[in-house]
Amino acid sequence: MSMEQYLEAWIGLGGQAAPAATGHADAPAKPARLILLGAPGIGKGTQATRLSQGLKALHLSTGDVFRAAKSNQNKGLTPALQAAVGYMVRGELVPDETVVDLVRERKAILAGAYGFLLDGFPRTVPQAEALDGILTDVNTKLDGVLSYSLPIEKVIERISGRRMCKQCSASYHLKAMPPKKAGVCDKCGGELYLRDDDKPETVRVRMEAYEKSTKPLADYYQRRGLLIEISADGAADDISARTMKILKERCGLVPA
Ligand code: AMP
Repeated sequence: MSMEQYLEAWIGLGGQAAPAATGHADAPAKPARLILLGAPGIGKGTQATRLSQGLKALHLSTGDVFRAAKSNQNKGLTPALQAAVGYMVRGELVPDETVVDLVRERKAILAGAYGFLLDGFPRTVPQAEALDGILTDVNTKLDGVLSYSLPIEKVIERISGRRMCKQCSASYHLKAMPPKKAGVCDKCGGELYLRDDDKPETVRVRMEAYEKSTKPLADYYQRRGLLIEISADGAADDISARTMKILKERCGLVPA
């Protein structure tokens, strides 16, 4: 099975069984089995994409499954998934039991030859405990839990510099990726604005909420010797280089 087929099986919403792990010509010699943690706006998404390419690991996001469920609302979703979409739309967390069931249904993917980068799961300690059980079931162990962090003032500086086009939703950054003409979209000439949830006061609230909810999770993995803290300061390239160096030293993982 190719990486793409595995990813389709992860998103798959019809309740079909996940594929069993079989041989793969292009799979990495040592699959990476990692969890990614990091506050919104910290650049975790960028790092996930780079790591997934570098390590040839499946980038598995529970948020992606729920977003796919949302766009498939009328196509035979299970009642649990329909309810999950409701939570997501209201900006609330989906109940642990529903998220855990969804991952459990796809547990064979976690034992696959490509390994995985779990993004957005686990989000709570009960989810982490359930994941331990699921991984034991499929005879697989985590290599580590990457936790990206940045002082709150820097996150605010980064996020509050973001600008979005009112017309075409293209995004810019006043420092890192400024438009050619201030306040005007390069692509369509639309007006650029600061999203409400990117305003400093809102970012501060979001960050504090994130830290409060993630701290117990980080502590959980720290106690198990799995937590790997990585500074998310600097350019994306620097953060990637830092990550690959520490993964080699701590976990023996190298680019595939
Ligand atoms: P994300 O893309 O990870 O920010 O997830 C988007 C939304 O999906 C979240 O706001 C939650 O409503 C839901 N969600 C995704 N993963 C989880 C999870 N592990 N536990 C609870 N809710 C989740």
